[in-house]
Amino acid sequence: MSIRFHIVVIMTLFCLVLFLAIWLFQIVFLDDFYRSVKTNAIRDTSKKIVETLPNIEFDANMEMSEFLLQMNSISIQNDACALIANVSTGFSMGANTKRDGCPVSNLSSLSVQSLWNLAMVNQGQWTAYLPEDGFFNLESMNKHYNKHEQQVLIYASTAYDQNHEKVLVVLSTIIKPIHIITDTLKQQLLNVIVIILFCSLLVSFILAKLIANPIRKINEQAKRLAEGNYEPVFNGTGYREIEELSQTLNYAATELSKVDKLRQELIANVSHDLRTPLTMISGYGEVIRDIPNENTPENVQIIIDEANRLSSMVNNLLDISKLQSGNEELMLETVNFTQMIDDIVNRYQKMMESREFEICFDWDQEVEAEIDVTRINQVLYNLLNNAINYSHDSRLVEVKQSVIDGWVRIDVVDHGIGVKEEDLPYIWQRYYKVDKEHKRTVTGSGLGLSIVQTILEKHHFEYGVSSEYGKGSDFYFILPCQTISK
Ligand code: ADP
Repeated sequence: MSIRFHIVVIMTLFCLVLFLAIWLFQIVFLDDFYRSVKTNAIRDTSKKIVETLPNIEFDANMEMSEFLLQMNSISIQNDACALIANVSTGFSMGANTKRDGCPVSNLSSLSVQSLWNLAMVNQGQWTAYLPEDGFFNLESMNKHYNKHEQQVLIYASTAYDQNHEKVLVVLSTIIKPIHIITDTLKQQLLNVIVIILFCSLLVSFILAKLIANPIRKINEQAKRLAEGNYEPVFNGTGYREIEELSQTLNYAATELSKVDKLRQELIANVSHDLRTPLTMISGYGEVIRDIPNENTPENVQIIIDEANRLSSMVNNLLDISKLQSGNEELMLETVNFTQMIDDIVNRYQKMMESREFEICFDWDQEVEAEIDVTRINQVLYNLLNNAINYSHDSRLVEVKQSVIDGWVRIDVVDHGIGVKEEDLPYIWQRYYKVDKEHKRTVTGSGLGLSIVQTILEKHHFEYGVSSEYGKGSDFYFILPCQTISK
């Protein structure tokens, strides 16, 4: 469902509900509301009169009494006429009886008695309607109930005066026919609903246009993004949410373009790096096959070395995808950390003796630490490999261990080519290589430091690098430890 259609439907429904509510209250139930308001008003008036009743002495001499004055003013205020009758003696007094529609001004003792009886069986009150021109006659009450004629509402209630005499209070007021009003309202309402419907359709079209247009624009731009155009071109305006969406999409486009660039670089790098050992292997293999004298242990060793290099590259690729998918749990154990580093350094030292490399380990006290041994070995191997690979003419790599307050810091320091300051923040990224042209003799997949970073972050160890271009680098990491007392 489009936004435009949705808004139009909601606005139309809203108008119809509004119209229905107005129609019900203003037309269908208006007469009932009017009658109930009038009845309540007359009931309240009757209550007020009854409340003043015990304060007066109820006999013939009281005609001009304060009570009569009060009763008169209350009746006038409430647009009613009133009659108070002593049920036993038949004596009665009227208030505001000169007004139109006051059939209760002269009630016979019999009528008073009948009304008293009727009210008594109905919790002390009785309500009825009488045609305006009709005489007070209990039989004709409610019979000619016609909403189109003016009527008189009669309300009788029972009370007792101070002498516990039965007193009947009868009030009457005019009920005007309201069909003329409702007919007028009906016509007006029909006109109003047409105007409201027209306006709401207009408003919903404008609203829908305002909201839907920027979204449609962004959608067009997003389609271009899906086709591989990573230029950040989203510029939705008008609403804060749309602007935020544009910014997010621009950010996503920039990030996607970075990933895409890295992916292309990776394919180029990996294919290049895999091709080199493969060419060597097949080349030396052919030489050994075709030239009998070339089947020397040195040439076979080259094939073995290149095959090992290939397998280590593939392992690296597998490692990084395994580590970064988050499926691998660390196998933590407490080990003699200093001893572990010493073993690795010795192994490297032996391997590098032929290349006249010196790899030394500098430490003053033995410590133990809780680590995943295989993974931290991998960190050290990768850092040492890089230090050796990027050492160039310098032939010294130093591993330093320093212990401070329960923390041990390991530095792998070389005095080789170093990293330019602008490249430093990126060297940890997957597939990032400073030397993208592969002019160097060293070949790497660009995954080593990314593996180091993932492993150290999984351990929650602090790590970092300081490097000076042309002078060398110092890669370090810090972890909690315990000194081993001997
Ligand atoms: P690679 O397989 O290319 O060595 P790494 O992730 O291990 O990939 O390293 C990323 C980049 O960081 C390297 O290409 C290199 O340019 C730079 N780098 C890493 N270690 C060193 C170092 N010790 N000295 C100089 N540059 C380094």
